[in-house]
Amino acid sequence: MLIKISSELAKKVFEISGQNVYACYQCGKCSAGCPVVNEMDLLPNQVIHLVQIGDERVLNCKAIWICAACFTCSVRCPRDVDLAKVMEALRLLTLRKGIYKLDLRRIENVEEYPQIALIAATRKYTG
Ligand code: SF4
Ligand code: SF4
Repeated sequence: MLIKISSELAKKVFEISGQNVYACYQCGKCSAGCPVVNEMDLLPNQVIHLVQIGDERVLNCKAIWICAACFTCSVRCPRDVDLAKVMEALRLLTLRKGIYKLDLRRIENVEEYPQIALIAATRKYTG
């Protein structure tokens, strides 16, 4: 099936993730299965919708950073949209602007955290 990618944001997401957000028909199964949805300011299907309409305000939402990349949404999607990859692409678009979400110097009692947690956080929240 050929689906036209019509927003600039959707094109950027496609280039990074290989995912065409216009395949999504907003069934909401991704949001229904997301284990951290209660912490999000936008539901995962709402994130997809904003990308579909090219609304770059999605880059400022908390949801893309709360996403734990667990892939539950990706396996539930009846349209084979890998939403975890879309979330990652949106994070990368933000990080590539030099907007980092973590400053290790501002973490209190940093020595109390496992090193692997700090490394994982650095990879996710900084460019
Ligand atoms: S499960 Fe797939 S088709 Fe349904 S809303 Fe989520 S991304 Fe869209
Ligand atoms: S990959 Fe992210 S958005 Fe998808 S179910 Fe997991 S935490 Fe939720």
